[in-house]
Amino acid sequence: MKRYLMTPGPTPVAPETQLAMAQPILHHRSPQFMEILGKVREDLRYLFQTEQEVLMFAATGTGAMEGAVVNTLCAGDTALVVDGGKFGERWTELCQVYGVKVDRIAVEWGRAVNPAEVAARLKANPAIKAVFVQANETSTGVQHPVRELAQITKSLPGAILVVDAISALGGYELPMDGWGLDIVVAGSQKAMMLPPGLAFAALSPKAWEFVKTSTLPKYYFDFAKQLKSQQKNQTAYTSAVTLTMGLMEVCARIRAEGLEKIFARNRRLSLATKEAVRAMGLELYAKDYPSDVLTAVLAPAGVDGQKVVANLRRKGIWIAGGQAQAKGKIFRIAHMGFIDETDLLGTIGGLEVVLNELGYKVDLGVGVKAAQAVLGKEAGA
Ligand code: PLP
Repeated sequence: MKRYLMTPGPTPVAPETQLAMAQPILHHRSPQFMEILGKVREDLRYLFQTEQEVLMFAATGTGAMEGAVVNTLCAGDTALVVDGGKFGERWTELCQVYGVKVDRIAVEWGRAVNPAEVAARLKANPAIKAVFVQANETSTGVQHPVRELAQITKSLPGAILVVDAISALGGYELPMDGWGLDIVVAGSQKAMMLPPGLAFAALSPKAWEFVKTSTLPKYYFDFAKQLKSQQKNQTAYTSAVTLTMGLMEVCARIRAEGLEKIFARNRRLSLATKEAVRAMGLELYAKDYPSDVLTAVLAPAGVDGQKVVANLRRKGIWIAGGQAQAKGKIFRIAHMGFIDETDLLGTIGGLEVVLNELGYKVDLGVGVKAAQAVLGKEAGA
């Protein structure tokens, strides 16, 4: 049976990428591999929309999140954490593990942070050295307004804005330099269309200043050491050779299509999904800024969201359920990366059938029709 991976990570990998990764392994210190790394370094700048070096680690995204904490702060420092979901929670946990004091903004799940609250907290506590936030909180399907947050932190010489863009980067507009984001962290297995295993971090000149004074312990995720190696087209330790070969292929395709078109395509798929679920009488979980890269849907009364996930899985369609407090209450459909209209229409059609199986009556075709209307209109049909 075919498998349709409609989860917000991992996401499907294109056959061209798989072929690139099927090539014989190169030695990571060979001139051939160094040439690949050189190309990838340039392409990553394009993807992150930055002139800075994008550091690459053999790790999942959380590794780069940890790196962002340990390379910029000292024990006893204070960080402001925007905690509006499972991944916001992770920033708090990471800071606490390293003895960083956390001033936490608890954002109701499904809501985005209010920039005025961030400004107020920063004003009330000038000791805050970093603001940690998700660009896209994957557990709730909400985009936090990081552009507005950067407007606030840009004017503060003593505080940086650290953005977890693990599920955002390459999915929608997030220009690191253009918006003044200080650290952007990403992972390979979402809109970057690769298997899990690569983590990325890019730092603004202001963030690199923080690196100079940071005293938290670090070894593998030592950003300064990694930067030095990358400037010689190397990584500090053994490179994830296979994934990097895949990355070179992905970057070539991203450049060929262009970021603008990719973002527009994801947005179109997102609008189609959101119209489809509304047409089925369902509600979005996100009350503010619903995400362009995934749609979190409230399960209808009396229907367990986990059962929606399980029943769809039996049809070969993999979506995600809710996490922690949202478990059973929601289900999440991704539409980023190597996901197309046909994948989406199939998923929506499958969802209609499954909801009927679970006792929530939907007229078959109503969601598909709503999605087709958006897709047709947007494509100029
Ligand atoms: N942050 C966000 C926003 C995510 O979506 C994820 C993964 O789903 C992570 C962090 C954790 O990334 P990883 O599982 O690659 O360590």
